[in-house]
Amino acid sequence: MANAIVVGSGIGGLGVAIRLAAKGYQVDVFEASDRLGGKLNELRMEGFRFDAGPSLFTLPGSVDELFALCGEDPRQHFHYQKLEVVCQYFYDDGTRLSAFQAPERFAAELERALGEPRANVLKFLRHSQELFELTSELFIFSSVHKLSSFMSKNALKAGMHFGKIDAFKTMDEANRKFFSKPKTVQLFNRYATYNGSNPFKAPGTLNVIPHLEHNVGGFFPRGGMYDITRVLVALAERQGVRFHASTPVRQIRTQGQRVAGVRLDDRFVPADLVVSDVDIVPTYQMLEGHSLPQQFLKQERSTSALIFYWGVNRQFPELELHNILFSNNYEREFEALFDDKKLYHDPTVYIFISAKLVPADAPEGCENWFTMINVPENVGQDWDSIIRNARLYILRKIKKALGVDLTGHIVAEDILDPRLIEKRTSSYHGSLYGPSSNSKFSAFNRHANFKSDLAGMYFTGGSVHPGGGIPLCLSSAKIVASLVDPPGRQG
Ligand SMILES: Cc1cc2nc3c(=O)[nH]c(=O)nc-3n(C[C@H](O)[C@H](O)[C@H](O)COP(=O)(O)OP(=O)(O)OC[C@H]3O[C@@H](n4cnc5c(N)ncnc54)[C@H](O)[C@@H]3O)c2cc1C
Repeated sequence: MANAIVVGSGIGGLGVAIRLAAKGYQVDVFEASDRLGGKLNELRMEGFRFDAGPSLFTLPGSVDELFALCGEDPRQHFHYQKLEVVCQYFYDDGTRLSAFQAPERFAAELERALGEPRANVLKFLRHSQELFELTSELFIFSSVHKLSSFMSKNALKAGMHFGKIDAFKTMDEANRKFFSKPKTVQLFNRYATYNGSNPFKAPGTLNVIPHLEHNVGGFFPRGGMYDITRVLVALAERQGVRFHASTPVRQIRTQGQRVAGVRLDDRFVPADLVVSDVDIVPTYQMLEGHSLPQQFLKQERSTSALIFYWGVNRQFPELELHNILFSNNYEREFEALFDDKKLYHDPTVYIFISAKLVPADAPEGCENWFTMINVPENVGQDWDSIIRNARLYILRKIKKALGVDLTGHIVAEDILDPRLIEKRTSSYHGSLYGPSSNSKFSAFNRHANFKSDLAGMYFTGGSVHPGGGIPLCLSSAKIVASLVDPPGRQG
């Protein structure tokens, strides 16, 4: 039986393992950590449970699809709900608003709270949908590194309407044209952070992202985000995939123009195919006889994160599942993140409380606060001192927004910083989403999902095409599977 090896069990690795098993390959997944799931993981302490990494869940169909592919009904295994409020926003001057998912209700709320004419919001959301329809097939669901992708009907449509996709405006410039109020611009600029980019540099094409939350919907799994890892590992095992935790791959071996297998600490495992779900930089460090072209090493990386997982001994009815306390100077915050590689003294604070929907995640009367700020990629900053300052800045911001000094209410704490993200998942510089999308051509600049000079070698996950985030990683897995011939026919 032809066999495939997947290196790393992040969401991209899980997706590709399931797809290749469904295609008829014997699949082994080697994972360096003692836990499966990569960034999509959980942590438990003192009666609290936290989703450790991703918290925003869009396009759940990309998970459901994997069950359908294996002939199973996703609703027998995986449950999620659509959010009525996708985020609760708090501005520095005390303005508060609820971002309802439903476009009409959201538009009415922006008119009430910010004075933004509702017609502007509805027009923008229609534009966002149009962007998705014009760009997704080519840039998200196909390989932009195959000529055939540009011959499709969808590619021709995207080409014909190129002027409409705002590739030559920044996201901020595009949003200023749509909206009359700076606070609305700030709210929609925030979507650049969904792939770790800078709205003052990233192309307006990224305005496709609000379509996912407001037209399609934001969702949340019944038991929290880690359900996604749990159900996909179980599905993969039912397909015969073998997982090997605490088993780092040390080298991807090659023979001439073909991949040969992987070297573990104690043995060599031959393979017909190898798919790496590890960041592209460390992947090449493992790849025998090949080095990463300079253009990829030089790419600007997306932001990293600093997270305080706080067990809090009281509840806050004014907070939702997802909450944002905005910085008073967004432009300066992004300059600090990307140009200075520093912490900004008034950072935007994101608070995610899964216990709002999963009561078992916190003891009675308590809440589990995943409190995160965006921070620069790790280029050797003094993170201990940054963490000390960030804690003060965050607590100050919470006090201003909610009128509560949280310090005395924190009964459990753990911290994740860029050094740990890099150490635990091998993400180069601790970036959450691989290279940033801060240039017009970023969609074309990511590494391909295959290697044209090395048969049998493929790449999935957040650092390669089409990018980071759960749906895009799952799309990279789908693209890889579409490029692989069924067993017996591989070249
Ligand atoms: C704090 C945080 C918040 C985020 N928020 C969101 C969000 O809200 N929504 C969203 O969609 N996305 C979010 N993301 C991004 C999302 O988590 C990632 O894009 C995605 O999970 C990356 O998956 P991946 O397939 O690239 O693999 P990764 O999760 O990066 O996993 C790679 C795996 O490879 C393993 N590995 C590394 N080297 C080796 C080796 N030599 N041998 C064997 N195994 C190895 C690692 O241990 C790891 O398990 C967030 C990420 C973080 C960290």
